[in-house]
Amino acid sequence: MAILNKYMQLNGLKKYFRALTVVLSALILTGCGFGNAAPGDDGFTKEIFAMDTYMSLTAYGDMAEEAVRKAADKINELDRMLSTGNEKSEVSVLNSEGVSRFSEDVMNILEKSLEISHMTDGAFNPAIYPVMELWGFTSGSYRVPSEEDIKSSLANINIDGIGVSGSEVTAADGMKLDFGGIAKGYASSAIMEIFSRCGVTSGIVSLGGNVQVLGTKPDGSLWRTAVRHPENDGYIGVVNVKDKAVITSGGYERFFEKNGTRYHHIIDPSTGAPARSGLLSVSIVSADGALADGLSTALFIMGEDRAVSFWRKHSGLFDFIIMTDDGRILATEGIEDAFESEHDYEIVR
Ligand code: AMP
Ligand code: MG
Repeated sequence: MAILNKYMQLNGLKKYFRALTVVLSALILTGCGFGNAAPGDDGFTKEIFAMDTYMSLTAYGDMAEEAVRKAADKINELDRMLSTGNEKSEVSVLNSEGVSRFSEDVMNILEKSLEISHMTDGAFNPAIYPVMELWGFTSGSYRVPSEEDIKSSLANINIDGIGVSGSEVTAADGMKLDFGGIAKGYASSAIMEIFSRCGVTSGIVSLGGNVQVLGTKPDGSLWRTAVRHPENDGYIGVVNVKDKAVITSGGYERFFEKNGTRYHHIIDPSTGAPARSGLLSVSIVSADGALADGLSTALFIMGEDRAVSFWRKHSGLFDFIIMTDDGRILATEGIEDAFESEHDYEIVR
């Protein structure tokens, strides 16, 4: 009996040490800690204004507060590096000097942008900034430019003019970059990584309506992410997700009106004008936030037919919910069970 007791004690001690090692290595690896979420946990939320929009960051569990604070710091850091409104940002320096040093995140965003640009046959173009400027979207002094002006600004958006050597990036004369079409999705994915590293297993962020979730809700159920209706205060529907980004692009988000025509901020690089593709909004559901963001912009430009064939070619990577300007709602097969709507909708297969 005594021997058995001794054995159990030893065994218990071993287990204790093993557990301690796991805890310590987790702490070392994450630099943050543990944070198991439990049902009934209210979580920790922080609201910030960054990247020109309101953001809400929520995490659950013991490490929630620290994780959210780290995430907010990261967002502010990304904003400082990317903002075209801050003349010292890495992107602004490239735009004014033609050469800049990019830190790791900005380089990741550039590389992802170029990848999405190639994938989408140029519909996504991170060098669209000169055209945005021409229409006044960057200053707020909106105007409808002449065909000649559009033509000459389109001469400056060829992404082959971007050079990368180590951390140094160069851009051809007249070129200017703008990561407004992808930055929020990159940021929400970066937050999910920070949450995970902190041991958080349940969290949700909304960056100006673009949502990304980590795990499930603390009670184990799926997150219900609503997709805004582009024409009223209601919703197109709800997508039930875990570990996904749900990111939307729509002409209603930023626009001006002139002589009864609406001009929005998503530019078709093939025309140099706001995309007239017959779509009101495109929401992308994907585990990859940056991809979801880039594709929401690109598919909005492509229009229904090209978006559907693009999805068929890349269906493992993402799903979409699209609203057309004749009021139809399309959702892809991969979210057939996850999507709910009080409106009629078609499933794309
Ligand atoms: P989103 O709301 O993600 O669709 O992004 C729209 C923003 O992306 C615009 O405000 C511009 O900063 C930028 N943008 C506009 N047109 C394009 C384009 N064709 N490719 C990439 N970014 C674009
Ligand atoms: Mg986008």
